[in-house]
Amino acid sequence: MRCLKRGKNFIFPVLLAAVILFSSVSDAFAAVTQAQIDEVKRKRDQVSEEKMAQQQVIDELSAQRDDIIDQKMALEQKVAITREQINLNNQEIDLYEDMIAEKAEEVDEARAREEEQLRRYRMRIRAMEENGQLDLFVLLSESESISDLLSALDDAGDIMQSDRALEDQYIAARRAHEEKQAEYEEYKAGLVAIQEMLSDERDQLEIEISSSQQVIDQLQAQISENEDLIAEINARWSELDSELTELQDQYDAEHTPGGLWGAEGFIWPCGTYYITSFAGTRIHPVTGQSKYHSGIDIGVPQGDPIWAAAAGTVTMAGWNGNYGNCVMVTHGNGYTTVYGHLSGIAVSSGQYVNMGQTVGYCGSTGLTTGPHLHFEIREGGAFLNPLAFFSGGSFDYAPDA
Ligand SMILES: [Zn+2]
Repeated sequence: MRCLKRGKNFIFPVLLAAVILFSSVSDAFAAVTQAQIDEVKRKRDQVSEEKMAQQQVIDELSAQRDDIIDQKMALEQKVAITREQINLNNQEIDLYEDMIAEKAEEVDEARAREEEQLRRYRMRIRAMEENGQLDLFVLLSESESISDLLSALDDAGDIMQSDRALEDQYIAARRAHEEKQAEYEEYKAGLVAIQEMLSDERDQLEIEISSSQQVIDQLQAQISENEDLIAEINARWSELDSELTELQDQYDAEHTPGGLWGAEGFIWPCGTYYITSFAGTRIHPVTGQSKYHSGIDIGVPQGDPIWAAAAGTVTMAGWNGNYGNCVMVTHGNGYTTVYGHLSGIAVSSGQYVNMGQTVGYCGSTGLTTGPHLHFEIREGGAFLNPLAFFSGGSFDYAPDA
């Protein structure tokens, strides 16, 4: 890190300026590191895993719920069929009740007819008795002959016989009706028994349906709870994701030419912001002597690209003593930038380079204790403090970086 060239016209009280610069901005802003990004990414992935686990719980609960919904639907179909059977049965019972009522009426009518016939029969006997046709004593005493008597008896008998036959007929009809009615009653009793069975079945099914519904409700409540958890997890994930995007954007910006703009149209020449050594007088880490440092040392990983801080013409591209592999670019406005200790050089002397064009790669050639970029800004013959051009940036002083 030693730079032997001593500036004749060193303008800035470099260390003092640097101390002020660091104390004012270092806490407010620190460059993003890959480790920071990885940490947030790890947290976000952890949350993703949490979400997946939670989703799995929801899926399992949903599967259980859907199974029970299917079972409940089957029960509902069964209960609908049972209700339909009950309806049909009721209709049949109604029908039988009508038939029984009809038969009861017919029985009543038959009984009335019977009674009427009995009444007529009795009247006829009484009339016969009254007109002497049936008074055996009268018949015997009044009949002029046996044949008279027999004839009178026959006449009375015929009439009585016919009345009796009629009554028998009526009785038979009534009994037939009564039998039919009894038959209907019996059939109806069977239907009522079936009806009771169906009602029990329906009640049982309804109990099962209602307990299925309870289980469904419980599962649904659990699912909702888990969905709330997922919503929380999603919120955490989104937060981490935006944090990650922000960090990544910042990181990308810092690791792209143009990530930090300075005064006079300069951009920061590399993708890191660790200052391992300030410009000015210092104790040299290798020689142990108090020496003047003509630029700043920036901790950059070995092999990372080094960019031209501004467009210009390459005035040197090659070995330069303690600078090791060194590139110098003159920018036409009086400024020259110097990039030292490179592991490789990407340009050649006389070449025009654009701002941000890679001029070489970080290394530790020349007098160094490890890979870093030695960066100078010169004006005329004077060494300026490069950090003074980048007062808008933020840096970490990391002598070991
Ligand atoms: Zn140096």
